[in-house]
Amino acid sequence: MPSLEINQEAPHTPAGLLLAIRQIGQWGLDLLFPPRCGNCGRVDIGWCDACTALLQATPIASHTTPLNNAFTVISSGIHADILREALHNLKYLRQTQLAPLLATRLTHLFAELDWRPDFITTVPMHPKKLAKRGYNQAGLIADAFADQVNLPYLPDALIRTKETISQVGLSAQERQENMRDVFNAHSNEIQGKIMLIVDDVLTTGATLSECAEALIDGGAQAVFGMTITHASDKQ
Ligand SMILES: [Zn+2]
Repeated sequence: MPSLEINQEAPHTPAGLLLAIRQIGQWGLDLLFPPRCGNCGRVDIGWCDACTALLQATPIASHTTPLNNAFTVISSGIHADILREALHNLKYLRQTQLAPLLATRLTHLFAELDWRPDFITTVPMHPKKLAKRGYNQAGLIADAFADQVNLPYLPDALIRTKETISQVGLSAQERQENMRDVFNAHSNEIQGKIMLIVDDVLTTGATLSECAEALIDGGAQAVFGMTITHASDKQ
């Protein structure tokens, strides 16, 4: 049940009154439209226990995608069903508690690999987009993963220099064009280092290829990639 507690701070002031009205309004909305599980729709806050358990029990299906310049990306499953729902909920519905659960998949995969990265990094969002969404969903997964494998997370290894249009609906070639020269590397910390980029979904690999290229251009010794899902067969 939503909390009935309202802000007690100076409710007699116009700002305090407005806050109190807003909170009562939110409570009313929660009664009329109760929060539901983002996966199955039953009334619950966030994902319900059954869907969370289902996500945790979803088997890992390791998939390797070789991209340009000996850059390899490993994914933990196909972009479908509960994994797609989880990534969608994380990205668009603020279900950020799913990030560490999803990161666990990468941790299991990573234990089987002989990769020895110095840093974990992620695909940066354009600052304008980041300000609008408030968080980088891929960054949340990368951060949780770095924590789980006890490696340093370097979120600013790459900077996004251009705002791009959405890749959805673009052909492989259009995606490549759209992502050209979008990233630059902050070169101080990555000189001679092995980098592992974490992203949510791999489609054509245009974004991750550009990121890898920017890191190598910036002085990294080698780059690997990991994503939760891959949708590369659909392209
Ligand atoms: Zn559910």
